[in-house]
Amino acid sequence: MKDSPEYKVIVVGGGSAALAAAISARNEGAAVLVLEKASRESRSGNLPFTGGVCHFWHRGLPEIVEFLPDLTPEELQTMIVPEFSADSWYNKIMEVTEERADPKMTEILVMESNPTVRWLKEQGLKLEPATQFSVREGTKLRWKTQNSVLRARGGGRGFSDALFDIAEKKGIDICYETKAVKLLCDSRGGVCGVTVKDREGFRDIKSKAVVLACGGFESNREWRARYLGPGWDLVRPRGTRFNTGDGLRMALEIGAQPAGHWSGCHAAAIDYQRSRVPEGQDIGVVGGADDRRSEYNLAVQVNVNGQRFLDEGADFRPFIYAKYGAQLLQQPQSMAWQIFDARVTPLLAEEYRSGTPVMADSIKELAEKLEIPALTSTIAGFNAAVRDDVPVNFAIRDGKGTVGITPPKSNWAQKLDKPPFAAYSIGFGVTFTFGGLKINSQARVLDTEGEIIPGLYATGEIAGGVWHKNFTGGGGIALGLVFGRIAGADAAG
Ligand SMILES: Cc1cc2nc3c(=O)[nH]c(=O)nc-3n(C[C@H](O)[C@H](O)[C@H](O)COP(=O)(O)OP(=O)(O)OC[C@H]3O[C@@H](n4cnc5c(N)ncnc54)[C@H](O)[C@@H]3O)c2cc1C
Repeated sequence: MKDSPEYKVIVVGGGSAALAAAISARNEGAAVLVLEKASRESRSGNLPFTGGVCHFWHRGLPEIVEFLPDLTPEELQTMIVPEFSADSWYNKIMEVTEERADPKMTEILVMESNPTVRWLKEQGLKLEPATQFSVREGTKLRWKTQNSVLRARGGGRGFSDALFDIAEKKGIDICYETKAVKLLCDSRGGVCGVTVKDREGFRDIKSKAVVLACGGFESNREWRARYLGPGWDLVRPRGTRFNTGDGLRMALEIGAQPAGHWSGCHAAAIDYQRSRVPEGQDIGVVGGADDRRSEYNLAVQVNVNGQRFLDEGADFRPFIYAKYGAQLLQQPQSMAWQIFDARVTPLLAEEYRSGTPVMADSIKELAEKLEIPALTSTIAGFNAAVRDDVPVNFAIRDGKGTVGITPPKSNWAQKLDKPPFAAYSIGFGVTFTFGGLKINSQARVLDTEGEIIPGLYATGEIAGGVWHKNFTGGGGIALGLVFGRIAGADAAG
């Protein structure tokens, strides 16, 4: 590590947002220091827990091929990728956030997503098709219009290793097990460094600018109860245990403005047993989120009393799974069962292979095994309500819904009548929190009066404003990368 006065930019955090900021600042010639609270083995925040999928607008397969130089023409011919316009993603974010997303921030996220993924490729990141978001069509794979098409090679872990590799090769200094605890301010209120705590104790490191990219507060049990509400202290985080709201606290202490949905979070259904692993113990899914249980579109989902409680077919899974996890908090035992029949089990996402479903040859037998007597009447009612006059089509919102039951299943409703039946038990976990700091279009943090706090930037989960109530799949990584790239370049300039 250099003597502190030589650093122009200090980046707090070691996730995708932080590394994008660090690389971008270094490309502008700045001396950059990355402070990572975690050890080298546990580095990179939530990124290693992800599938490494990054959302961005594109012009369909003719453009996607430019991101995949290693695929043969034969391999590319197996892909069907329709265009995904910037407008369409912008509108989708507005729809799922009930028009609460900050329009300017959302516009920058969307418009810069494609150039940012190109930029990452130029830095050396290798990409591959995100096959988990495709559906099989004969011998080909079709991506639905709004689905993420690419992921980093090696998923989230590969993404993280590639970013650290690029950062190290560019000469960015990285300090592990070094926690930022306080922002240093000069007499004019500008940020001029950080106080850190490491094995040696506390010390100050000076810099011209600080980029906060140290995540939200999902791993802080007390803040979950304080901001998300009663019961959330009992819901374990799905990813890193290091995001305890440190950056938010430090920035609020010097007058930064809160933004976004502080009582909201991304919470997704996961395998029930995994959801009960005590907090602090690793959930054991680094490298691909294989505990995820998001196949609502194929399922009929009931609580432990045998009642359905949400619309499994409201939209494609990237647009419902982040808000549906939380609905389990309202259910008895915070638990539910996703039930599939032989018609759809071959379509289940790969991650379901990690589970051991309860199997039965009839709904009656399943009801006995699950000890849910009401299940038979619920399924009989559901089957009777399924529209027969519309063919099922998983590539579009097909309108093949139910009639006369509450809640409905609005699309992809098929009778649950083809044995064997498989029931997966589900719980849920917090993926990340939505509350953050107010930033402007240069990713500079604003104070409570709307003025720039000189020298302070924020990106990633810690930057609030886009996600409210819900999220669009693949948008988390994209947000941090886009504003990280912007923050790094501006802080270095
Ligand atoms: C299981 C799972 C699956 C996901 N799948 C996807 C997906 O496929 N696509 C997608 O777009 N999003 C996904 N997400 C969300 C995505 O991971 C996040 O939105 C994104 O990674 C946030 O990046 P970040 O850099 O802001 O934060 P993080 O990746 O959380 O990084 C925060 C960093 O800050 C460090 N830190 C914290 N406090 C301090 C401190 N005081 N000092 C120094 N360092 C500190 C942490 O150690 C960590 O390195 C998933 C999340 C999870 C948990």
